[in-house]
Order: sequence, then structure tokens, then C-alpha cells
Amino acid sequence: MSGHLEHPRARAAARAVTVLSVLAAMIAGGCSRPETAPETRAAGLTLPAGAAVAAEAITADDLLRDVTELSSDAMEGRLPGSAGDRRARAYLAAQLGELGLEPAFGEDGWEQPVPIVGVTSHLPETWSFRAPGGGEVAFRLGDEYTGASGVQQRSVSIDDAELVFVGYGIQAPEEGWDDFKGAELAGKVLLMLNDDPDWDPALFGGERKLSYGRWTYKYESAARQGAAAAVIIHTTPSAGYPWQVVRTGWAGEQFELAAGDEPRTLLKAWLAEGAARRLAALTGHDLDRLVESARSPGFAPVALGATTSLRFAADLHSAATANVGGILRGADPELADELVVISAHHDHFGVGEPDATGDTIYNGALDNCVAMAQTLAVARAFTTLPAPPRRSILFLFPAAEEQGILGSAYFARSGAFHSGRIAADINFELGNVWGLTRDVTIFGKGKSELDELLAPLAEGQGRVLVGEPDVRAGWFYRSDQISFARVGVPAIWFKSGTDFIGRPAGWGEATYAEWIERKYHQPSDEVDPSWTLDGLVQDARLAFLLAATVATRDAMPAWVPGDEFEDERLAALAELR
Ligand SMILES: [Zn+2]
Repeated sequence: MSGHLEHPRARAAARAVTVLSVLAAMIAGGCSRPETAPETRAAGLTLPAGAAVAAEAITADDLLRDVTELSSDAMEGRLPGSAGDRRARAYLAAQLGELGLEPAFGEDGWEQPVPIVGVTSHLPETWSFRAPGGGEVAFRLGDEYTGASGVQQRSVSIDDAELVFVGYGIQAPEEGWDDFKGAELAGKVLLMLNDDPDWDPALFGGERKLSYGRWTYKYESAARQGAAAAVIIHTTPSAGYPWQVVRTGWAGEQFELAAGDEPRTLLKAWLAEGAARRLAALTGHDLDRLVESARSPGFAPVALGATTSLRFAADLHSAATANVGGILRGADPELADELVVISAHHDHFGVGEPDATGDTIYNGALDNCVAMAQTLAVARAFTTLPAPPRRSILFLFPAAEEQGILGSAYFARSGAFHSGRIAADINFELGNVWGLTRDVTIFGKGKSELDELLAPLAEGQGRVLVGEPDVRAGWFYRSDQISFARVGVPAIWFKSGTDFIGRPAGWGEATYAEWIERKYHQPSDEVDPSWTLDGLVQDARLAFLLAATVATRDAMPAWVPGDEFEDERLAALAELR
């Protein structure tokens, strides 16, 4: 973090210059000979020689060509395991090869196979709970409850399991929080609140939703207790979306990574708020009082006295997909084992129901071909540097993100690269096709040193760095960067700005909202002749400069002290010592 001068290990090949001098040269209209012996250095900010010129190798034409290819009907919407999926992966591998990169997964190994399993759970039309005194409530599938099997088995049965309210279901030693208090919860059905504590700025990041507040954490937390089932109480404020989203999202086939030896609950369920009220009332409790009691670090699980049984069948089907990756080997013999990852998922939803125009192909042009094109463009820029930077760069296209962020999770835990050797992940998803902006948005701002590396680079483009508009929505946890964060790697979702040059205030937000409404996850997400790609070029250049900085400076970036992922990082780094 301090302003290191030339590190003894740094090689001439990776000669570093200050970001200020490079940016000054860029502002002056591009340069071919960056200053080599700068008077001043911005704290820790260094770039490889020639970075400013290399950034200019990123062009709108290249971006549009890759987006057009990857989102063409020939790719059939890139559903994991489909022919279109294989075609898209082959295209990416060919591009990485043409750029002269090395296969990331061994000789000829452009792909890391990712085994996934589709699980279709046939939950019963009603799910009932019995009170000890004989009363009973039943909830209708879809309207009042939903969920999925937690295990990859063809039949699941829960018999006379006891219902226990466990508050938020969180164990967070760094927050001094443990909702379980050592209670015996094996075989029980755990009823829990969504979200994480948000009423105290000193607890769980205040209003910011941390991973403790996500449903993925809740189900894993219940599984660690040996519970039979976890039931999350849905409310629109705590989820950030209405019940309808839960209802449709959990219906039908759910893809997951093939099961390993991790603990699992038999059932992962959701209960609508009204249903949760009736369930609490059945046991003589008031839901609001239970919620109130959970808002304290002194909370302990409350056995509600009700029991439930549930049996259902599930269909399983295995599919094979793969992450795709290429590496630019770093120039520093000691730091080349460390990686900066640039990522963008390659999958989408395949072919489905026709829309109003009869179109059935979910091309996913913005989601996520634009981001793949940015990743390829950044790779192209790196290969035009006079010499590679000190650390290696991995250009990674994770599989099956739309199905629950599966490919990147598999990659992060696979050990293909030790997490303690991954300097950072810069993830692209849903880029900007509407023009130049005065701002640049990253999801994950305020969490790691990546902010302070990026801010002056953005300033060099005349832009300001801003965070996500709604920290309660938990966007940081909703794309591939989270898989890296969860194994301790500092990560950001490199989004884009919303303050468009030449447009009135609010235009960016309105345009994006309209896109979400009309095209997001619909067959109409296609290349559009009205797109303006200069903003996309600007973002890709900025991400390139950030990656180049991370690859060149002496130290890998760190989490902000006390961040939810800091302990994981320190443990990963300690393993390498
Ligand atoms: Zn996506």
C-alpha cells in the first residue's frame, strides 16, 4: 500500500511507470513512450510500460464482432450442456488461442469440465404442520410455499420433524453473532428470517446486505446444523423482490453442481409472509414478536412445538458443461504464479417458449455476450503490451451462471489455482451499450483496495467511481465475482455508469429499467442497431488498466479490514506460507 519504488524483483520487461504519468500521456492524446523515471508516484499505483497505448487496442468493431458471433441464433441461447453451449465454448477457446494465450487448464485444456445436475422436485400440492394440541395448517404449493429438494435423490422424506424458529440462522463470529447457541438442531425443520440484521450501522454492514443475508447462506447454515429442512420467510423488503419472483424462480428444473460431501438439508423451502403468520399462530406465537426477539445477539432458538412430514419424488438429470479459460503468463518469475482474473459467464437460457413475435431463442446479447466481448477485448489489449505484466492474467468464461453461479463456484473451489494466489477478480456482466458516462459503477465498492486502485484510473478518463445504487439489493452476491469473494479473493462486478453525457439526469436509470422490462431474460435480448458502444470501449479500457495495475504492483489487493471475506483471505494466504 505504500508507494514502493522499483521492487528488486521487477524486471525491465515489466517496467512500471506511475499511473499519473500514463494518464497524463493518455489525456494528452495517447502516447508511445511513457515516462520511465517519474518524479512522483501515486501510492502503490503502477502500470506496465505501454499500458496507455495497449488500452487503445480495444475497439468498438472488435467488441461488436464478438457480441454478434456469440449471440447469433447458431449458438441457440447457450443453455448448459447443449450443442449451442459447446459451440460458444469452442468460439471462446479459438479466440483465446488466436491471441496467443496459453490454455488455462493444462495442455490443450481450454476447458475445465463442470459436472452439473438438473433436479426437478415434485413437491406436494399442500404442505401441512400439526400443533401438539391437534390443530393443523396447510400451505398451497406456489401461492404459499415453494422450494426444492436439497439433495440429489429420487425420493425424499421428512417424518414428524420438529419446527424450530432460529431467527436469522446466522453464525458470524466476527460480528459476535450466533443464532444457534449450541441448540440441538439435527433432523429439525428450521424456520428463519431472510436478510441479515440491518438496523445498526455497526452490525453486518448496516443496510448493506452481506452474504449472511442471502438465501444460499441460509440453506448452507441450516445444513451445517444437520437440519432436515430450512424454511425462509419471504417478505418483499427483506428479499428485494416480490413473492412472484420466488414462486417462478423455484419452479421447474434447478441446476446445481454435482453433490460432493458437503452437508445438505433434505428440503430448501420458502414460505410467504402470510403463511408464516398462520404457522406462528398455530403454535401460539405471534410472528412479529418472534421477529423482534431475533433482533438481538442474545437470541436463542425457539422450539415452536409443531411437527411436519413431507414426501416427494424428484427427477435428476446430469449435464456436462465447462468453464473456458486462457492465460497470459506473467513476466516476473516470482509473481507469475499469481493471477488476476477477468471473468464473464458464457451461458444463457437456451431455446424456450416463443415470445409475442414467435422468437424462441434466448440470445442473451447483453446478458452476457457483451461482457464476454469485453473480456476478449481486455485480453487483446494485454497481448499488445510490449511485455507481459509481472503477474499472470486469467481470462475466464464461467459456465452455468444463470443457473445459480455454478461454474465460477466450481472453479473457485476446484483448486485448479489456489485462491491465495488469485490477486483479484474483475467480473463483467451486463455492460453499457448506450454511450459515454461521467461515472463508473462497481458492485462491491467499499469492500476492498480495488476501489482506491480504480478511482484514480477512472479520474484519468474524467469519470468518478460510484457504488451500487441500492446496497440492500445485494447485487454484489448475484454474479460470478461472489464465487471468488467466498474463497477470499478481492473481487468486483465491473458494471458501468448511469450518468450519460449529453442526456438528462435520470436517463441512464430509465433506459436500463426499460431494458430490464422489455429484454432481460427474454428472446428479444439481441444485438440492436441502436447500440452505441463508445461507453463499452471506455469501460473495457478502464478495466484493462485496473487489471494491469493489479498485475504490476508489489502487493496483491486486500479486503477493507473487518470485511466479511477478510478471514477467508487471511486463511488462504496463510496456507501458502
Ligand atoms: Zn447473466
